[in-house]
Amino acid sequence: MIHIDRVAKRFGANTVLDGVDLRVDPGEVVSILGASGSGKSTLIRCINGLEKLDGGAITVDGHRVDDPKGLREARRCCATVFQLFNLYPHMTALENITLAPIEVLRTPRRQAEDEARALLDSVGLLERAGAYPSQLSGGQRQRVGICRALAMKPRYLLLDEVTSALDPEMTAEVLAILAKLAGSGTTMLFVTHEIEFARHISSRIVFLDGGRLLADLPTARFFAPDGGLAQPRIAQFLS
Ligand code: ADP
Ligand code: MG
Repeated sequence: MIHIDRVAKRFGANTVLDGVDLRVDPGEVVSILGASGSGKSTLIRCINGLEKLDGGAITVDGHRVDDPKGLREARRCCATVFQLFNLYPHMTALENITLAPIEVLRTPRRQAEDEARALLDSVGLLERAGAYPSQLSGGQRQRVGICRALAMKPRYLLLDEVTSALDPEMTAEVLAILAKLAGSGTTMLFVTHEIEFARHISSRIVFLDGGRLLADLPTARFFAPDGGLAQPRIAQFLS
């Protein structure tokens, strides 16, 4: 599981995460909602060791991310997809996907390519395997980005607003892939502004407000008038 225990993060005088507790168990799909600036991306960046913690601890399957050896192990079970498609521009879709399995997991090239083609096929992009990122639409790039994360066979998938730079049609194609993944039991921690989609695929919803967790509820409770909606801040956000 991903275990976040009283995590604090400051940037100068700005307290961005203020005692956040969160647990994600294998098989869960947990969505993180909250206004812009509430600390969602910072939390994701803390989990994959891109930010140093100012307090508390994070473990991924027991590996502490604030320890270099632990972080290496944690990164092997946890893959992240970001808002902006950070594909390597000089590599084809296939090469972007096979790079880490070959370099990090030491998967033989032939096998890595077979697996990458199967992943591309699963997102409807097999025929684009040889295309460079500049030759792909935003939605296609983000689908390749998801394949690249899945190629590492992660136990956990962290997604930070992966559709917010896409137009509605491309958003729909990426969300369809994520719904399929959620349905197949992939554990996901999902930062999103797509509230209806979060409601549809999540087992739990957490709400961040000014770096604090205002709610951590099963999805139906979160949207219930006497549940999450009973909190004025959440009701205001959802309206
Ligand atoms: P969200 O993803 O919910 O929009 P962020 O986690 O990106 O929020 O940001 C939370 C707060 O932390 C914001 O006030 C933002 O300006 C600040 N912040 C984020 N990253 C940095 C950084 N590297 N340096 C200084 N402040 C930062
Ligand atoms: Mg963000």
